[in-house]
Amino acid sequence: MNKTLLLSAAILLFNLPASAQDPKESEDWSRKPVIITPGCRSSAPSDAIILFKNGRDLDNWTSRSGPAKWKTGFKKMKVNGTGDILTKEKFGSCQLHVEFRSPAKIVSEGQGRGNSGVYIQTLYEVQVLDSYNNETYYNGQAGSLYKQSAPLVNASKKPGKWQVYDIVFHAPVFNPDGTVDKPATATVFHNGVLIQDHFELKGPTVYAGYPKYQAHGDMPLLLQDHGNPVQYRNVWIRKL
Ligand code: MG
Repeated sequence: MNKTLLLSAAILLFNLPASAQDPKESEDWSRKPVIITPGCRSSAPSDAIILFKNGRDLDNWTSRSGPAKWKTGFKKMKVNGTGDILTKEKFGSCQLHVEFRSPAKIVSEGQGRGNSGVYIQTLYEVQVLDSYNNETYYNGQAGSLYKQSAPLVNASKKPGKWQVYDIVFHAPVFNPDGTVDKPATATVFHNGVLIQDHFELKGPTVYAGYPKYQAHGDMPLLLQDHGNPVQYRNVWIRKL
Protein backbone atom coordinates (compact mmCIF):
# COMPACT_ATOMS: atom_id res chain seq x y z
CA MET A 1 0.00 0.00 0.00
CA ASN A 2 1.42 3.41 -0.86
CA LYS A 3 1.76 6.25 1.66
CA THR A 4 -1.32 8.21 0.51
CA LEU A 5 -3.50 5.10 0.69
CA LEU A 6 -2.12 4.26 4.13
CA LEU A 7 -2.86 7.77 5.40
CA SER A 8 -6.39 7.65 3.96
CA ALA A 9 -6.96 4.26 5.56
CA ALA A 10 -5.71 5.57 8.90
CA ILE A 11 -7.95 8.63 8.71
CA LEU A 12 -10.94 6.36 8.10
CA LEU A 13 -9.91 3.82 10.72
CA PHE A 14 -9.09 6.25 13.50
CA ASN A 15 -11.87 8.66 12.60
CA LEU A 16 -9.29 11.38 12.42
CA PRO A 17 -9.58 14.74 10.75
CA ALA A 18 -7.63 14.81 7.49
CA SER A 19 -4.19 16.27 8.00
CA ALA A 20 -1.60 17.36 5.55
CA GLN A 21 1.19 16.42 7.96
CA ASP A 22 3.41 13.46 7.29
CA PRO A 23 2.83 10.79 10.00
CA LYS A 24 6.57 10.04 9.87
CA GLU A 25 7.26 13.45 11.48
CA SER A 26 5.94 12.18 14.81
CA GLU A 27 7.72 8.79 14.72
CA ASP A 28 10.37 8.40 17.42
CA TRP A 29 13.41 6.27 16.56
CA SER A 30 15.79 7.84 19.10
CA ARG A 31 15.92 5.28 21.94
CA LYS A 32 15.27 1.59 21.37
CA PRO A 33 13.56 0.03 24.46
CA VAL A 34 15.77 -2.72 25.91
CA ILE A 35 14.33 -6.23 25.47
CA ILE A 36 13.63 -8.05 28.77
CA THR A 37 11.86 -11.28 29.86
CA PRO A 38 8.59 -10.66 31.80
CA GLY A 39 7.03 -12.65 34.70
CA CYS A 40 3.39 -13.86 35.27
CA ARG A 41 -0.19 -12.46 35.39
CA SER A 42 -2.84 -11.75 38.04
CA SER A 43 -6.64 -12.22 38.55
CA ALA A 44 -9.41 -9.65 39.22
CA PRO A 45 -9.86 -8.11 42.69
CA SER A 46 -13.33 -8.30 44.29
CA ASP A 47 -14.22 -4.64 43.68
CA ALA A 48 -13.46 -4.65 39.96
CA ILE A 49 -16.10 -4.17 37.25
CA ILE A 50 -15.69 -7.21 35.04
CA LEU A 51 -15.99 -6.01 31.47
CA PHE A 52 -15.33 -9.36 29.82
CA LYS A 53 -14.95 -12.65 31.59
CA ASN A 54 -17.25 -15.52 30.72
CA GLY A 55 -16.17 -15.66 27.10
CA ARG A 56 -19.65 -15.88 25.62
CA ASP A 57 -21.34 -12.50 25.58
CA LEU A 58 -20.41 -8.94 24.80
CA ASP A 59 -23.15 -7.54 27.07
CA ASN A 60 -20.94 -4.75 28.35
CA TRP A 61 -19.84 -3.70 24.87
CA THR A 62 -21.17 -1.96 21.81
CA SER A 63 -19.63 -0.77 18.53
CA ARG A 64 -19.56 2.58 16.75
CA SER A 65 -22.68 1.45 14.87
CA GLY A 66 -24.86 -1.04 16.71
CA PRO A 67 -24.06 -4.14 18.76
CA ALA A 68 -20.49 -5.36 19.22
CA LYS A 69 -19.80 -8.26 16.87
CA TRP A 70 -16.35 -9.53 17.76
CA LYS A 71 -16.08 -13.31 17.77
CA THR A 72 -16.37 -14.81 21.26
CA GLY A 73 -15.83 -18.23 22.78
CA PHE A 74 -13.42 -20.21 24.93
CA LYS A 75 -13.29 -17.29 27.43
CA LYS A 76 -11.94 -14.85 24.89
CA MET A 77 -13.04 -12.38 22.26
CA LYS A 78 -11.35 -11.78 18.96
CA VAL A 79 -11.02 -8.85 16.57
CA ASN A 80 -12.76 -9.87 13.36
CA GLY A 81 -12.95 -6.83 11.12
CA THR A 82 -16.32 -5.62 12.44
CA GLY A 83 -14.85 -2.46 13.93
CA ASP A 84 -13.79 -1.09 17.29
CA ILE A 85 -15.78 -2.06 20.38
CA LEU A 86 -16.61 0.28 23.25
CA THR A 87 -17.89 -0.26 26.76
CA LYS A 88 -21.48 0.80 27.33
CA GLU A 89 -20.37 2.39 30.60
CA LYS A 90 -18.26 5.53 30.63
CA PHE A 91 -15.22 5.91 32.82
CA GLY A 92 -12.95 8.58 34.21
CA SER A 93 -9.82 7.83 36.22
CA CYS A 94 -9.34 4.11 36.54
CA GLN A 95 -7.19 1.06 37.12
CA LEU A 96 -7.51 -1.21 34.10
CA HIS A 97 -6.47 -4.81 33.48
CA VAL A 98 -6.44 -6.21 29.95
CA GLU A 99 -5.08 -9.52 28.67
CA PHE A 100 -4.35 -9.84 24.97
CA ARG A 101 -2.78 -12.28 22.56
CA SER A 102 -1.21 -11.59 19.19
CA PRO A 103 -1.80 -14.14 16.43
CA ALA A 104 0.69 -17.00 16.67
CA LYS A 105 1.06 -17.00 12.91
CA ILE A 106 3.15 -14.07 11.79
CA VAL A 107 1.69 -12.57 8.63
CA SER A 108 3.09 -9.07 8.42
CA GLU A 109 5.55 -6.70 10.03
CA GLY A 110 5.84 -3.35 11.77
CA GLN A 111 2.49 -1.77 12.52
CA GLY A 112 0.72 -4.54 10.59
CA ARG A 113 1.61 -7.33 13.03
CA GLY A 114 -0.90 -7.92 15.83
CA ASN A 115 -2.02 -4.31 15.88
CA SER A 116 -4.91 -3.40 18.14
CA GLY A 117 -5.17 -0.91 20.96
CA VAL A 118 -6.56 -0.10 24.36
CA TYR A 119 -8.09 3.35 24.05
CA ILE A 120 -8.76 4.70 27.52
CA GLN A 121 -11.67 7.15 27.46
CA THR A 122 -11.93 6.34 23.72
CA LEU A 123 -9.10 8.82 23.10
CA TYR A 124 -5.82 7.73 24.67
CA GLU A 125 -4.23 4.63 23.14
CA VAL A 126 -1.98 2.16 24.86
CA GLN A 127 -0.71 0.39 21.76
CA VAL A 128 -1.28 -3.33 21.33
CA LEU A 129 1.19 -4.78 18.85
CA ASP A 130 3.28 -7.91 18.38
CA SER A 131 6.61 -6.32 19.29
CA TYR A 132 8.51 -9.58 19.68
CA ASN A 133 11.30 -9.34 17.12
CA ASN A 134 9.26 -6.81 15.22
CA GLU A 135 10.81 -3.39 14.72
CA THR A 136 8.74 -0.26 14.31
CA TYR A 137 9.05 3.31 15.51
CA TYR A 138 9.53 3.03 19.27
CA ASN A 139 6.65 5.30 20.25
CA GLY A 140 4.40 2.97 18.23
CA GLN A 141 5.49 -0.40 19.60
CA ALA A 142 3.62 -2.50 22.18
CA GLY A 143 3.08 -0.58 25.40
CA SER A 144 3.70 2.79 23.85
CA LEU A 145 1.32 5.63 24.50
CA TYR A 146 0.95 5.82 20.78
CA LYS A 147 3.06 8.53 19.12
CA GLN A 148 3.71 10.11 22.53
CA SER A 149 5.84 7.83 24.69
CA ALA A 150 7.89 4.71 23.93
CA PRO A 151 7.81 2.00 26.64
CA LEU A 152 10.71 2.05 29.11
CA VAL A 153 11.54 -1.53 28.11
CA ASN A 154 10.17 -4.08 25.65
CA ALA A 155 8.46 -6.71 27.88
CA SER A 156 6.75 -8.46 24.96
CA LYS A 157 6.15 -12.19 24.91
CA LYS A 158 6.21 -14.33 21.78
CA PRO A 159 3.23 -14.11 19.42
CA GLY A 160 0.54 -16.60 20.51
CA LYS A 161 1.31 -16.07 24.22
CA TRP A 162 -1.14 -14.24 26.51
CA GLN A 163 0.13 -10.87 27.71
CA VAL A 164 -1.13 -8.39 30.29
CA TYR A 165 -1.48 -4.66 30.59
CA ASP A 166 -2.17 -3.16 34.00
CA ILE A 167 -2.84 0.53 33.64
CA VAL A 168 -3.39 3.38 36.09
CA PHE A 169 -4.99 6.28 34.31
CA HIS A 170 -5.88 9.69 35.65
CA ALA A 171 -8.35 11.50 33.45
CA PRO A 172 -7.54 15.04 32.37
CA VAL A 173 -9.16 17.89 34.27
CA PHE A 174 -10.44 20.85 32.31
CA ASN A 175 -11.12 24.46 33.26
CA PRO A 176 -14.59 25.92 32.69
CA ASP A 177 -13.30 27.60 29.52
CA GLY A 178 -12.24 24.21 28.11
CA THR A 179 -8.49 24.62 28.61
CA VAL A 180 -6.53 21.92 30.42
CA ASP A 181 -6.12 22.26 34.16
CA LYS A 182 -4.38 18.90 34.65
CA PRO A 183 -3.32 16.70 31.74
CA ALA A 184 -4.14 12.97 31.75
CA THR A 185 -1.47 10.64 33.15
CA ALA A 186 -0.85 6.98 32.48
CA THR A 187 1.20 4.39 34.31
CA VAL A 188 1.45 1.06 32.50
CA PHE A 189 2.76 -2.36 33.50
CA HIS A 190 3.34 -4.85 30.68
CA ASN A 191 3.45 -8.44 31.92
CA GLY A 192 4.12 -7.05 35.39
CA VAL A 193 6.92 -4.74 34.31
CA LEU A 194 6.71 -0.96 34.59
CA ILE A 195 6.88 0.44 31.07
CA GLN A 196 5.18 3.86 31.45
CA ASP A 197 5.84 5.78 34.66
CA HIS A 198 3.13 8.38 35.29
CA PHE A 199 3.47 9.82 31.81
CA GLU A 200 1.66 13.11 31.21
CA LEU A 201 -0.29 12.73 28.00
CA LYS A 202 -0.02 15.61 25.57
CA GLY A 203 -3.59 15.09 24.39
CA PRO A 204 -5.65 12.43 22.59
CA THR A 205 -3.84 9.92 20.38
CA VAL A 206 -3.34 11.09 16.82
CA TYR A 207 -1.73 9.25 13.92
CA ALA A 208 -0.37 12.36 12.17
CA GLY A 209 0.45 15.73 13.58
CA TYR A 210 0.57 16.53 17.27
CA PRO A 211 -2.00 15.98 20.01
CA LYS A 212 -4.27 18.71 21.32
CA TYR A 213 -6.69 18.48 24.22
CA GLN A 214 -10.38 19.16 23.85
CA ALA A 215 -12.52 19.20 26.98
CA HIS A 216 -14.50 16.02 27.64
CA GLY A 217 -16.11 14.12 30.47
CA ASP A 218 -16.18 10.40 31.22
CA MET A 219 -15.87 8.29 28.08
CA PRO A 220 -16.11 4.59 27.17
CA LEU A 221 -13.12 2.29 27.07
CA LEU A 222 -12.44 1.28 23.46
CA LEU A 223 -10.65 -1.74 22.04
CA GLN A 224 -9.35 -1.20 18.53
CA ASP A 225 -10.05 -3.26 15.44
CA HIS A 226 -6.95 -2.62 13.34
CA GLY A 227 -7.68 -5.55 11.06
CA ASN A 228 -5.42 -8.05 12.84
CA PRO A 229 -7.10 -11.00 14.68
CA VAL A 230 -5.89 -10.07 18.18
CA GLN A 231 -7.64 -11.80 21.10
CA TYR A 232 -8.67 -10.41 24.50
CA ARG A 233 -9.73 -11.96 27.80
CA ASN A 234 -10.06 -10.98 31.49
CA VAL A 235 -10.80 -7.32 31.00
CA TRP A 236 -11.63 -5.52 34.23
CA ILE A 237 -11.62 -2.01 35.55
CA ARG A 238 -11.70 -0.22 38.90
CA LYS A 239 -12.89 3.37 39.13
CA LEU A 240 -10.53 5.68 40.96
MG1 MG B 1 -3.17 0.21 17.59
